[in-house]
Amino acid sequence: MENHITEEARNIFVVGLRNAHAMENQALSIMKPQVDSVENYPEVAQRLEQHVSETEGQIRRIETVLDDLGEDSSSLKDTALSAVGSLTAMGHSMAGDEILKNSFANFAFENYEIAAYRSLITLAQDAGFENSVGPLNENLAEEEAMAKWLEDNLPTVTHRYLELSEAGHIAKA
Ligand code: MG
Ligand code: FE
Repeated sequence: MENHITEEARNIFVVGLRNAHAMENQALSIMKPQVDSVENYPEVAQRLEQHVSETEGQIRRIETVLDDLGEDSSSLKDTALSAVGSLTAMGHSMAGDEILKNSFANFAFENYEIAAYRSLITLAQDAGFENSVGPLNENLAEEEAMAKWLEDNLPTVTHRYLELSEAGHIAKA
């Protein structure tokens, strides 16, 4: 690998980081309404709450990586607030099999994030952004742990959904 960073490599990396920042804000907008609407599945609510706070840390890591590259991340923060604000009103309603659909969607989203971070880490290594690799690896590890938890917990959620349905606690959608 050459010892200088090309303009092209830098641009690809910065665009990737900005996309990851948007992805994490989307993650918050997906998870936050669920935390309020999963009262029948307390372990899911607890894990989602944990991952919401991890995700807020991931956003700060991405902003630090962008700042270290001399890129202004302040414009990204505005987008973050509006994206979350517009979706907070959507919570408090979960009927029928939404818990299952959310579980599938959350698992898919975590795997999307895993792919995004693996690609960013490859770019960082190829292009010589060595200082970025550590924080990106931290984000990746949290996504992998969340994906694993969702996968492991899917049978529990499914059993519970069936039990609640049989007991008449689930509205027929
Ligand atoms: Mg994330
Ligand atoms: Fe995640």
